[in-house]
Amino acid sequence: MTSSETKEQFTFQAEISRLLHLLSESLYQNREIAIRELVSNASDALDKLRHASLTQGGIDAGDLHISIEPDQEGRILAIRDNGIGMTHDELVKNLGTIAHSGSLEFLQKLKDSEKKDSGVSLIGQFGVGFYSSFMLAERVEVRTRSYSEETGWIWESSGDGSFTISEPDAELQRGTEIRLHLKKDLDEFADKNRLQYILKKYSTFVPHPIRLNGEHINNQPPIWLEPKASVTEEQYTNFYEYLTHFPGQKPMWHLHLTADSPFQFHSILYCPDANLERMGFGRSEHGLHLCAKRILVQNDNRDLLPEYLRFLRGIVDSADLPLNVSREALQDNTIFRKMRKVITKKVLDHLDDIATENKEQYAKFYREFGVILREGIGADFDNRDRLAKLLRFQSTDASAEDGLVSLAGYVERADEEQKQIYFATGTDMATVLRDPNLEIFRDRNLEVLILTDPVDEYVLANLREFDGRELVSIDSADLQLPESKSSDQEDSSTKEDAPKPESSDDSLPANFDRLLTVLKETLGDRVEDVRRSKRLTESACCLVNPKGAQSTTMQKVLQLNIPDFEMSKMIFEINPKAPLVARLCELIGNDQNRDFVTSCGQQLFANAMIMAGLAPNGSEMADRVQSFMMELAKQKSSIVL
Ligand code: ADP
Ligand code: MG
Repeated sequence: MTSSETKEQFTFQAEISRLLHLLSESLYQNREIAIRELVSNASDALDKLRHASLTQGGIDAGDLHISIEPDQEGRILAIRDNGIGMTHDELVKNLGTIAHSGSLEFLQKLKDSEKKDSGVSLIGQFGVGFYSSFMLAERVEVRTRSYSEETGWIWESSGDGSFTISEPDAELQRGTEIRLHLKKDLDEFADKNRLQYILKKYSTFVPHPIRLNGEHINNQPPIWLEPKASVTEEQYTNFYEYLTHFPGQKPMWHLHLTADSPFQFHSILYCPDANLERMGFGRSEHGLHLCAKRILVQNDNRDLLPEYLRFLRGIVDSADLPLNVSREALQDNTIFRKMRKVITKKVLDHLDDIATENKEQYAKFYREFGVILREGIGADFDNRDRLAKLLRFQSTDASAEDGLVSLAGYVERADEEQKQIYFATGTDMATVLRDPNLEIFRDRNLEVLILTDPVDEYVLANLREFDGRELVSIDSADLQLPESKSSDQEDSSTKEDAPKPESSDDSLPANFDRLLTVLKETLGDRVEDVRRSKRLTESACCLVNPKGAQSTTMQKVLQLNIPDFEMSKMIFEINPKAPLVARLCELIGNDQNRDFVTSCGQQLFANAMIMAGLAPNGSEMADRVQSFMMELAKQKSSIVL
């Protein structure tokens, strides 16, 4: 039965050939990862067998373990497990197609990153799985027997686009043996010391015994079950490396949790040092390792933490969770749901602790993960207040809290009678700071939060208020400014029993109302209204949004995404104190100047649009500016000649 006629021939799926090609060019230090991948597959196979033995009758799991047997002379490395094994069809599917999401994800990320360089370093992080064996071997033999079958199979390939499957000469044990026929210059992978080093580096926390030539080498206790005080920083870091496959990287922080009642669980959660999602690696699809009494139930559980904490990695082990349940049933499990609540709350409390005790670390955390965390404001009503405290923004009072301010800090700095929290939006800090709407705030020394990411505005719109104070955009007509305190003279002149009218119209330039009327006629339905501005101190005019409308920045975002989105009409505010406005008031007193004043009005409107980040009609504007130039040029020539 050994002749080649009995070997069935198969071709790899095209993606696999691509992957194999890439792996063959891989860097030297990546080769160690192949061992990690094969051991991790063996461990998975043992988990599956144990799971089957616990949920189906008639299976004797026996002494589940992984054997590593190097044969230096024959240049062969054998990695064997007595786990679940594979049937003929499973061999074809599992080792011949990219059924496995890990490899698929890797290829996807590679495509996204488009840099071959980072592709090679990505190999380490995303685990290319079984195919990594071709980094070490010129030929790979897989001898396997499924727990559900009497006979086994031999799968073979030289990693050159095809593989064969044949029947073995003799009976095979349950489980899988991967035999790597090492490449010529890679004998070191059959060296016991070298292997021991690699296994200790990557596989210490594998939950099954690993025996190297019979010697048990991973006797590391599960640190999540140990009391916090007895776990060293190094152990935490090693465990992080094991969980994440980020060799040599430290997490930003970790949180070790233990609870006994009303249900029992142990957990270590890690926050990575950087946000890969932000670096263009796409949405994080990792999850937590979920164990029941040390037995792995799922290694990518995404339901135990809310979406907005998806960047956390780690393990949760609970004796109160049932082993034998589907993902769906688990989500409905009461204990599971309560555990999720408790863990979420603990994480948010921990973040709050960091924010108070280590501002610098929190600022770093927020810069990386704030984008994900703030999704929680709209998604997790129960924890909204906790989350609101964790938000950070830029502010006109940046000195206050190291560049990023909290809503609580803002409220603390604000006066008692200030009933609103103000924010300004725009594409970047410099643009926002030029916004004429900010003048009055600067003038009255009122702090304004600066939002340069439209998502922040969604977040604040969702939040609506903080600590009883409404959150309002500075370009909104809903603005209520606290009484001005700086005007001492006015105060003394204002007798209590002789209240002044709301606005002292006598201080307006003559014809101001007429100017407003002319502008209203000129601009017609391009504006919601033209009115006197009480918020401007220097600029001649600005645009504000009517009550209840979204800010201009937000509307612009919506316009980009919704084809026939209509921007709401804005209110054109005119500042009577601006010298240009005063002069226009004088001019409009004479009807002969009407054309010139309307031209000026249109140009002021165009300017205000530009300041608000909107695009006025370019050709109209060019014509108008040219005629202004013409006017000036005429005057100039009369002076010089
Ligand atoms: P992953 O482990 O992420 O699924 P791999 O490429 O490492 O991806 O492995 C592909 C598949 O091959 C596994 O999902 C599993 O079904 C099968 N497999 C690999 N090694 C073993 C093994 N030792 N025992 C049983 N099945 C295995
Ligand atoms: Mg694998």
